[in-house]
Amino acid sequence: MSKLAINGGTPVRETLLSPCWPGGRLYDEREAQAVYDVCMAKSPNRYSTQQKPGRVKTFEKGLAEFVGVNHALGVTSGTAAILVALKAAGIGPGDKVIVPACTFLASAGAVVCAGAVPVFCDVDDTLNLDPKKIGDVCDKYTKAIITVPLLGNPCQMDEIMAEAKKHNLIVIEDVAQSMGASLHGKKMGAWGDIAAFSMQMNKIITTGDGGAVVTNHEKMYERAVRYHDQGMFREKEGFLTNDATDVFIGQNYRMSELTGAVACVQLERIDGIISEMRRIKKILKDELSGIDGLTFKRVIDDEGDIGSALVMFLPTKEQTQFFIKAMMAENIVFDCQYGGRPVYMIPQIFHQKTVDASGFPFNQFDEKIVYTEDMCPVALDMMPRNAFTFIEPSMTDKDVEDIIKGVKKVCAEIL
Ligand SMILES: *Cc1c(COP(=O)(O)O)cnc(C)c1O
Repeated sequence: MSKLAINGGTPVRETLLSPCWPGGRLYDEREAQAVYDVCMAKSPNRYSTQQKPGRVKTFEKGLAEFVGVNHALGVTSGTAAILVALKAAGIGPGDKVIVPACTFLASAGAVVCAGAVPVFCDVDDTLNLDPKKIGDVCDKYTKAIITVPLLGNPCQMDEIMAEAKKHNLIVIEDVAQSMGASLHGKKMGAWGDIAAFSMQMNKIITTGDGGAVVTNHEKMYERAVRYHDQGMFREKEGFLTNDATDVFIGQNYRMSELTGAVACVQLERIDGIISEMRRIKKILKDELSGIDGLTFKRVIDDEGDIGSALVMFLPTKEQTQFFIKAMMAENIVFDCQYGGRPVYMIPQIFHQKTVDASGFPFNQFDEKIVYTEDMCPVALDMMPRNAFTFIEPSMTDKDVEDIIKGVKKVCAEIL
């Protein structure tokens, strides 16, 4: 057995296998040309573009078609997309919104920004929402649920939709990290009432920063457009419609044409990105299955997994931490998702620290909102034991072999 690099042996790779920009690493002349064209048309804003059709509009049409919904709206980030979706759905002060215990900070942060309060629902062994636990966290204030397919793995949307119906919840899908994932052939983002996507650097396709809201609801779409553009709804006649009964003060989360131009090109790449990630993930899983003590995260629909990450569990937190350090020493990037913590354990959420000191929005209820460490025991047990590596379409055969060699080498020593 060869000596681990962490103990002074020779690493599997000479240089670090860098992680995680599936769409970003594919940037080439096509993205550059698209931006150039916007510049030369002197058309950087979607509502005064000289390019017909506009780039943001074209991206929206393409994304709606890709997800299988009626409407898409480009916005400035994934976080903005969740906020716009919440406001489109009418969520605000005095409302509680269910958020999965395992997700990125923004899923809960956007709820607070919307003036509502997140309550946390435990996950199952997929690290996605456990539909059976939804009823336990509902009360008279609970208006909506945010579902989050983590790292390319679909959520149990069929059961979640049934539970949501039972408890009269609006379903908002946060598909930020899983564009293209599906269950029974229906895409994440097409199941709920409204959904959010991100195109930040680490996501499946990227514009550096950027996001989108998608929905089948006419009314929610109109409210999303208004909220993201100062309360206006300019598209119908090319300018503000004044007859609307649903007027309100909005914000500005408009996507620029420069972003839209890159988004169009990246969206053309997405099917190729996903099929390549899926091919690589299958090799990794085939080669690494059967190692005692190492399990893969359960995926509920293999056809609907976009293959953007290989997530594994080790028996203990200590072994997981050592495994990750040892893999890094072999020059293969592994990480423990979200530092091994449920999202509610992040200090500003746990202690309900908002930007101002008024106590809003946590003081809008009869009872005090309290978060406890053990409120989602499955998340608390499983999160510290996850170790994952990102998969990218630009990985070479040698990169893939190195991951396999590295995992086998380290596991042989520690498991
Ligand atoms: C990345 C991410 C977001 C935030 O997206 P940004 O574009 O970075 O604002 C929200 N939710 C989840 C689950 C994410 O992974």
